[in-house]
Amino acid sequence: MKRTTEWKRKLMELATGTVLFDECMDRHTSIGVGGRADALVSPESVAELGRIVAFLRAEGIAVFFVGNGTNLIVRDDGFRGVIVSTKGLRAVRVEDRGQDRAAILAEAGASLAEVVALTAKEALAGMEFCAGIPGSVGGGIRMNAGAWGSELKDVIESVDLLNGGGNIMSCKREALQFQYRDLALPEGACVAGGVFVLARGNREAVEGRIREILRTRTGKHPLQYRSAGSIFKNPKGMPAGKIIDEAGLKGARIGGAQVSEMHGNFIVNLGSATARDIIGLIELVQKKVLETKGIALEPEVKIIGEE
Ligand SMILES: Cc1cc2nc3c(=O)[nH]c(=O)nc-3n(C[C@H](O)[C@H](O)[C@H](O)COP(=O)(O)OP(=O)(O)OC[C@H]3O[C@@H](n4cnc5c(N)ncnc54)[C@H](O)[C@@H]3O)c2cc1C
Repeated sequence: MKRTTEWKRKLMELATGTVLFDECMDRHTSIGVGGRADALVSPESVAELGRIVAFLRAEGIAVFFVGNGTNLIVRDDGFRGVIVSTKGLRAVRVEDRGQDRAAILAEAGASLAEVVALTAKEALAGMEFCAGIPGSVGGGIRMNAGAWGSELKDVIESVDLLNGGGNIMSCKREALQFQYRDLALPEGACVAGGVFVLARGNREAVEGRIREILRTRTGKHPLQYRSAGSIFKNPKGMPAGKIIDEAGLKGARIGGAQVSEMHGNFIVNLGSATARDIIGLIELVQKKVLETKGIALEPEVKIIGEE
């Protein structure tokens, strides 16, 4: 008991912003479910992030990094450990790279939406595909977020990684192992920021492409409900949504969770869903799709917390 109080006291000393103890994670995930984390801390600088991570690791306390929580399900019994949010790390700036190119340097907690808005303002082409993806820069890099045939790896020049000891190093794209919806990170590493290199283009063309993408997404995704985006990775050859649709699972429900009637790869929270409902529905979809189509669907969403 004494030890518990001691680490909490020390964490409050290290953090310049608020530390939320026993914080309900349904407030920090887009799908709106999740039990309590022992603590949620939002460092306000990369140096502070480093100090906090090094302290928690040295104490043997479990750490989980969260950006915007848009690809995350926290189980109902919560998370024993500290969730470190990057939302206090939001600096973004543009750096000249000659006549044809410019770089955007963004900290992990900046939203992809604000980076996309900046590319439009600066007439920089290449990141329009991120329009409508509700994640953060750090979460986007970790998940190698993508759409319309492009992924973040296509525009990344380098990524700043913070290791478990709290030290930062800049890794060039060539040294990073990106895959479909994944960047392999060393154990315990956090993305502190990224550098995206883009081509100088025409402002109207960039804005037009962003508008077109946002319009198409509104017509395809059930944005009136809370969700975690695509639940499953697309197997080679066919989108998961189509497979789920063909298996007759659109509209399937457990409690307050439903396979969207609009898009088979979205599970939506009808308002009262628990993590148990959502995870139960994920397992039901996996079982039915394996039985009827012989395909093993792999979740794209990250699921954490006490079983
Ligand atoms: C309506 C909707 C539409 C979506 N559309 C798309 C889409 O078109 N394409 C797509 O790819 N995704 C899509 N997503 C999913 C999601 O937005 C992306 O995966 C996004 O990149 C996740 O970013 P995040 O900050 O929310 O990450 P989180 O959900 O907070 O975290 C996701 C994972 O990344 C890790 N992580 C987060 N930040 C860091 C960090 N700084 N360092 C290390 N690890 C970190 C977390 O530990 C976790 O494992 C959609 C989601 C929604 C709700």
